[in-house]
Amino acid sequence: MSILKKTVMDYIKESQTIYIATHIRPDGDAIGSAFALCLALKDMNKDVHVIMPSYSSRFSFLKELNEAKDKVNEAEYDLLICTDCSDIARVSIEQEDIAKAKNIIAFDHHKFSSINATAMLVDEKCPAVCQLLYKFLIDNSIKISKEMATYLYMGIMTDTGSFNYERTTAETYRIAYELVSLGADFVTVCKKINDTVKECKAKLMAYVLNNMEVYLDGKVRMAVATKELLDSLGVEKEDAEGMTNYLRMIEGTMLAAYIREEENGKFKVSLRSEGQIDSAVIASSFGGGGHIRAAGFNTNDVEDTKKQIITKVEEVLNFESNRNS
Ligand code: 5GP
Ligand code: MN
Repeated sequence: MSILKKTVMDYIKESQTIYIATHIRPDGDAIGSAFALCLALKDMNKDVHVIMPSYSSRFSFLKELNEAKDKVNEAEYDLLICTDCSDIARVSIEQEDIAKAKNIIAFDHHKFSSINATAMLVDEKCPAVCQLLYKFLIDNSIKISKEMATYLYMGIMTDTGSFNYERTTAETYRIAYELVSLGADFVTVCKKINDTVKECKAKLMAYVLNNMEVYLDGKVRMAVATKELLDSLGVEKEDAEGMTNYLRMIEGTMLAAYIREEENGKFKVSLRSEGQIDSAVIASSFGGGGHIRAAGFNTNDVEDTKKQIITKVEEVLNFESNRNS
């Protein structure tokens, strides 16, 4: 007798009360995948909510975000769906609420996952979870509304650097075409996400660029934003990120690190790479993770972390030059 393994869709179909969670400090792909899925499941008459205790106000133009919940109401529920989150410690839902789920499924595009899911749909080659989710919805003949198309488009646009990073493929453009055909509001998404910046954040950018630290002849660039600085500029915690790319795009940079102090006195490190240095490997050595070009971790000791990052980059460069000589 053969026992057929249940699919992600089987778990969705047999569940009624569903919560969707994504990673803390959600980005466009996290918010896009969580809310596109929520709208799809509502159309399937599921009792479904997104758990998202906080998010940057730049996403406030998306009206469904008002309905996001902080906590699970029930003592028990059928299904938890995690999107765009590979690390159980970074899911935007409390551990006690995770434990109330009968089953857990995950939609992801990270290489490794510490989420103990009952079933998963993971493709690390996919540039955005929203691309993977689009295919899942099409494969299951689920109608994609204009609102869902806008969320999916936003996730693909943000995680591909507006269709430019190397995991972007012709298929990504085709899916973007399909989403625009379905009515995705790409004009508003681009205007709000790529083309508008708060004044306090513009001042933070100026600080980061004026105070960057340059190492290894410009191959490594770093900047530190303390809580005192962020408070003095009036930057909220959800808006304090997104600075690493400005360091990364400076000519000759192989690895950029932006380090910012969080509410709890710990420091969050965001790494960005040009592709030669694997930032996920560096982040993993500090207990974090991510992708080759974008990764992150937490630390208590900024000076020691900076030294270690420089040493790790030197090791990679020496290894490469020995290999090529
Ligand atoms: P960001 O620099 O935008 O905060 O994060 C970039 C990427 O690195 C994220 O998409 C995520 O995959 C990963 N990442 C950031 N911080 C952490 C962390 O603390 N732990 C893990 N496992 N991954 C992280
Ligand atoms: Mn993503």
